[in-house]
Amino acid sequence: MSSNAKIWGRTSQVSVISFLGTLGILLFTPFMVFYFYVAVMSFGGSLWEPMSRFLAGTMTLRDFWSLCPSISVEAFLIFGVWFLLQVVFYYLPDILHAVLPHYKGGDCLGAVTPAGNQLHYNINGLQAWGLSHILFLIATALLGWFSASVIFDHWGGLLWVVNIVGYAVAIFAYSKAYFSPSHPEDRKFSGNFLYDFYMGIELNPRIRQFDFKLFFNGRPGIVAWTLINISFAAAQYNLYGYVTNSMILVNLLQGLYVVYFFWNEAWYLKTIDIHHDHFGWMLAWGDCVWLPYMYTLQGFYLVVNPVQLSTPYALFVFALGLFGYAIFHTSNRQKDLFRKTNGELSIWGSKPSFVEVSYHATDGKERHTRLLTSGWWGVARHFNYTGDLILSLAYSLACGFGHILPYFYFFFLGTLLIHRCLRDEDRCRKKYGNGWAEYCRAVPYRLIPGVF
Ligand code: NDP
Repeated sequence: MSSNAKIWGRTSQVSVISFLGTLGILLFTPFMVFYFYVAVMSFGGSLWEPMSRFLAGTMTLRDFWSLCPSISVEAFLIFGVWFLLQVVFYYLPDILHAVLPHYKGGDCLGAVTPAGNQLHYNINGLQAWGLSHILFLIATALLGWFSASVIFDHWGGLLWVVNIVGYAVAIFAYSKAYFSPSHPEDRKFSGNFLYDFYMGIELNPRIRQFDFKLFFNGRPGIVAWTLINISFAAAQYNLYGYVTNSMILVNLLQGLYVVYFFWNEAWYLKTIDIHHDHFGWMLAWGDCVWLPYMYTLQGFYLVVNPVQLSTPYALFVFALGLFGYAIFHTSNRQKDLFRKTNGELSIWGSKPSFVEVSYHATDGKERHTRLLTSGWWGVARHFNYTGDLILSLAYSLACGFGHILPYFYFFFLGTLLIHRCLRDEDRCRKKYGNGWAEYCRAVPYRLIPGVF
């Protein structure tokens, strides 16, 4: 049994490096999203071309600005309808419960917070995803209200709208944390305005049953991901009269990832996003802008570069993607089931091994839990990240080797997951004390056995 450090959860102190990193991200990333948009729409997907023109002095910031998209009323309307629809779908379990009292919905418990709170969630992400796609299909294929390429057709205008929404939500969340916090004892203040704005103060901001993190992390952006890809495929068809096998591959592999997310939404409640990260600009702007624009770069790139892959290569990429997905899926599932059944299950044909650990929340109570050391969790401490990375490499490889841009997501995810893994381990070390050290001795590597 482990001894426990008293404090866990997000760090309250901001180092100079963290502050500079925060400042850099706040200043640089919004510009980056516009830069990538311009690189695809005006330079065929070349990231280097606009930069080289800047450096050679043949393009000024004013020229760059003229290539940026314009804001439009249609984009506001499209986003407004989409957003309202997602809010209605979010409340569907409550609406159905009011009409059919026996309908319970997907009531789930989240993880214990550092202050000892454990929140209820009424999850229905799969329902929201399914209904959104059915409505899109009816509106495009059956009623012909608009073309399936509608999202691509307004991609530029929407970029402005989601930025406005992302900033508005971040500013609202920051103010709410001071004036009307949902769980005051779970707030974290660093004393640094920029860091608090970026990382968030409240852990689980809510307005009544409306949970900001569950909604923004898991609804407008991720539900849209597959529709955005479908829209890119439709745009490719409108432009060239065919859809390439690379576009189909990207749609299939990313579709698998999105459906997994909603199929296992209860699992998502126990991930770092929900039970550890506070809700600030990083999540608000990230969910509204970064996710829909940077996670879908491959499909966007393929609209202007209709890459047709040879059949053996396409099969290789598909197999690689399925291999990565299988690791991602089974490792997350092993941990989830292990925690749900308190270790009463079979993993790879035998009873799982584990390290027993304990921790204290600030309410002073001692709680116990277990860290799995069997299955993928005996291979490396974050092998679920390794599976995710292999899958993301497959999305990029599906776009061929013409440009580096479609590989951006792979490098970004690699950086994010390595940083996340170090951040998570720091928190677990504080939370579980010696128990965590014992676990690290049992499973010495993080992502790749023998390497890291
Ligand atoms: P994990 O699902 O790995 O959750 C880590 C937490 O699980 C730890 O904080 C700890 O929490 C618990 N834990 C750690 N080791 C063990 C163990 N051996 N046995 C039991 N519990 C353990 O991490 P994430 O939430 O970061 O990621 C979930 C998935 O989402 C991953 O597959 C990742 O690849 C993916 N992801 C994708 C992103 C994207 O942008 N595409 C971004 C982030 C994640 P506790 O305090 O409960 O002990």
